[in-house]
Amino acid sequence: MRYKAAYPKEAIEAYRGFIARRRSERPSAEYRTPTEAEWDEFLAHFEKRKVSIGTCARAFSSPCVHEHACVRCSLLPPDPAQRGRLEEIRDNLVARIAEAEREGWLGEVEGLQVSLAGAEEKLRQLDRGHGQHTAVDLGIPTTRGDR
Ligand code: SF4
Repeated sequence: MRYKAAYPKEAIEAYRGFIARRRSERPSAEYRTPTEAEWDEFLAHFEKRKVSIGTCARAFSSPCVHEHACVRCSLLPPDPAQRGRLEEIRDNLVARIAEAEREGWLGEVEGLQVSLAGAEEKLRQLDRGHGQHTAVDLGIPTTRGDR
């Protein structure tokens, strides 16, 4: 087995080469300047992705295929500022599951439990620091002689 150090410069050159090859294979019409209407549609897509507990990360021009069940959806990284709202949603789901069990609405219990698992997972993501960008101290590099 051998090892190869991949330097950032090589990665950037390989990526640029890939983009250049891909462009040469695609119809040139795809690289025209977009119209005003296309730009508006592009920007509106990102505005419309904002939901109460975060911003949907689905790709541009793709529809929501998860029936807007955002609390259950892995494409929604939770917004740390919305932790309180997520806790409210979780508490509400716990109460609704208890009510459904008490009233014998067993058809609802399973769906509510899936939503509860989704809300708890989003809270765990926030506990793990998902969505919070903090600086990581990597220390000062030293030469072998300094050790
Ligand atoms: S359900 Fe998922 S894909 Fe659909 S809007 Fe919510 S986060 Fe986006």
